[in-house]
Amino acid sequence: MTVDRPAPADPRAGAPWRSRATIPVARGLAAWRDLVRIGEAGAFPVLDLAIRLGLAQAFWVSGIVKASDWNAALFLAAHEYPVPWMNPVLAAWLGVTVELAGPVLLVLGLATRFAAVPMLALALVVQYAYLPLDTNLLQAALFGWYAVMGAGPISLDRRIGRGVAATAVPLARPVARGFAAVTRFAGPPYLLVLRLWIASAVFVAGLAMTDAAPLGAAAAFVGSVLVGLGLAARPVALALVVLVPMIEMTTPHPADALAWMALLGLVALRGPGALSLDTVIGRSLLRRFPAMRDMPFSALADRPHVVIVGAGFGGLAAARALRHAPCRVTLIDRHNHHLFQPLLYQVATASLSPADIATPIRGLFRDQANARILLGRVTGVDTVNRTVLIGEQPVGYDHLVLATGARHGYFGHDEWEPVAPGLKQIEDATGIRRRLLLAFEHAEGTADAARRLELMTFVVVGGGPTGVELAGSIAELARHGMAREFRTIEPAFAHVLLVQSGPRLLPTFPETLSAAAARALEALGVELLLDRTVEAIDEAGVVVGGKRIAARTVFWAAGVVASPAAKWLQAEADRAGRLKVGPDLSVPGQPDVFAIGDTAWSEAWDGKPVPGLAPAAKQGGAYVARVIRSRLDGRPAPAPFRYRHLGSLATIGRREAVADFGWLRLSGPAAWWLWGAVHIAFLAGTRNRIAVAFDWFWAYLTFRRSTRLITGGDQG
Ligand SMILES: Cc1cc2nc3c(=O)[nH]c(=O)nc-3n(C[C@H](O)[C@H](O)[C@H](O)COP(=O)(O)OP(=O)(O)OC[C@H]3O[C@@H](n4cnc5c(N)ncnc54)[C@H](O)[C@@H]3O)c2cc1C
Repeated sequence: MTVDRPAPADPRAGAPWRSRATIPVARGLAAWRDLVRIGEAGAFPVLDLAIRLGLAQAFWVSGIVKASDWNAALFLAAHEYPVPWMNPVLAAWLGVTVELAGPVLLVLGLATRFAAVPMLALALVVQYAYLPLDTNLLQAALFGWYAVMGAGPISLDRRIGRGVAATAVPLARPVARGFAAVTRFAGPPYLLVLRLWIASAVFVAGLAMTDAAPLGAAAAFVGSVLVGLGLAARPVALALVVLVPMIEMTTPHPADALAWMALLGLVALRGPGALSLDTVIGRSLLRRFPAMRDMPFSALADRPHVVIVGAGFGGLAAARALRHAPCRVTLIDRHNHHLFQPLLYQVATASLSPADIATPIRGLFRDQANARILLGRVTGVDTVNRTVLIGEQPVGYDHLVLATGARHGYFGHDEWEPVAPGLKQIEDATGIRRRLLLAFEHAEGTADAARRLELMTFVVVGGGPTGVELAGSIAELARHGMAREFRTIEPAFAHVLLVQSGPRLLPTFPETLSAAAARALEALGVELLLDRTVEAIDEAGVVVGGKRIAARTVFWAAGVVASPAAKWLQAEADRAGRLKVGPDLSVPGQPDVFAIGDTAWSEAWDGKPVPGLAPAAKQGGAYVARVIRSRLDGRPAPAPFRYRHLGSLATIGRREAVADFGWLRLSGPAAWWLWGAVHIAFLAGTRNRIAVAFDWFWAYLTFRRSTRLITGGDQG
């Protein structure tokens, strides 16, 4: 048996990855690179979209006004800003077309360069005569940005551009190549000219301030030199964004000040370009510290190996937070996708399709050179030889993070699982969807009234968030989702019961919100059986509080047990099988083995157990990555892990939800909108966000559920 050990070192790895002299510089560079990437990935897309919206709106308003009063449009083209070499009628047509089509394309980020050039030309033709030179130049610079650099990440060009270029659309490939060449060759000189212009404006503004504010003037002179040279250009541009409203870089015109801020923001977030000292220095630093390069995985053979088992919320957070750490990361999962479990019940009740809430793990790590993904089910851990076992295949580790989550538990009644499935994986959700939809189909097909009643009775066991959401969604599907589609049965008469062993639903929420959830469910027709325990479940129904309820479809949302991680390590666990971990989330006696998320048990919530929630797993993952990074860098360990509770949310149907943030408690439609926004924001991948938002919007307006597919056979 061979242990999965690293490949031979790649000569590109250069100097050893760690030495006393290089650590502080390397750490500083890594921190700076992280900051730059956060700016580029987080703030730049938003700024870019805001600028496009701003540029588009003025044109759009003017276009609408002219289109609705064509005589005025003709008059303006003939007398206000005539183009000597063009017939006024043609000029009016062209102008209005650009003013109406340009903004739409610019906002969508579709053929952005094609839209930006005529908009720039029109702006200059129309306003050159009567607007100050500064204003015209600012507009030219902004449209120039889009003509040369194209739209940012929130645009159709960036999303579908590569795909379109690879289609059979005539000229698509040469046009795409041409655009890329424009950015590559014209981008650096454009950015240089832009910086020099900004520098001169800052310099002139400094001159104007010398008497009144000598310190401000000195800062402006230094800033202008730095921006011009492209030295520390990002932070200087950022500082100037703040200073623009204070210094007179232009005539005191609010729109001009905004345009300056937009241009400076673009330089701050996208960088000064290749023709700058920052780029020259950055390249030489990378030559000096080759370990800072994003090297291919095979070149990292001499670096410590961090193995993360489980690509759920915790595992992903840990792997991502190690992206610039001096180590190799291997992320192992038994599935090839990361699953957004909070929306599983929507797949189970035919609101969403599986692909909307699952994202291929490899795609998420496409750009993280130090990480590799292994598909496999881990079956054990050998702490003596420091390996995890994927069946027979051992994978060696220096640091191990166990993030294998939990699965549903039946309180010692595992025999209930086949008749009362729970929700944990995609297969569970599609299985529940099959049972649910088949129950209606079989009810339609039977002539036996008693059997029909059994088929149209649905029991959900467990009144926590999953049970509440599942029961509400089943009731809504029955009431609204299938109206007028059956001829023998009326789906709206389906009987949905929710059994909860405690006196109230959502026991972790405040009582007022539990009551609000109960009212919302009852309004949907769900019968609540509170303070009642399930004593038996079989194919014919359930026994609750000594009484049998005939039901062909029972779903389980009552208990969870942790993955067998504690068994693999033969370590101490709580009653739910969660591995007990220390203050730094390492396993006692195994300092290099950590456990996070649903599979771990810690009291890091101010002395209380950390809840089994996605944010807890994410926070644990990020924390463990910090511990590992500090060990790799030889730094002191961070303070013990502390879970910060961000709040709890649960939804009931299409209008109601409850939200508890401690300082704010909400129920009703406001909580529902909040719930929707939060879930869309936290989904992995833009495609999934758009797909889910669209599906919800469609279902919201039409009551239709788009994914009512019975797959995997015709047996319930
Ligand atoms: C139906 C449902 C609804 C929920 N709703 C919410 C909610 O609204 N809000 C909220 O905050 N939390 C919610 N949760 C809880 C939340 O999803 C979990 O707390 C969170 O997923 C825990 O993250 P994790 O990384 O510990 O484990 P998981 O996200 O479960 O990930 C575990 C990963 O490990 C992999 N794995 C497991 N065993 C092995 C193995 N042997 N070998 C290889 N890979 C393995 C799995 O495939 C999985 O990818 C919900 C959970 C469920 C089931």
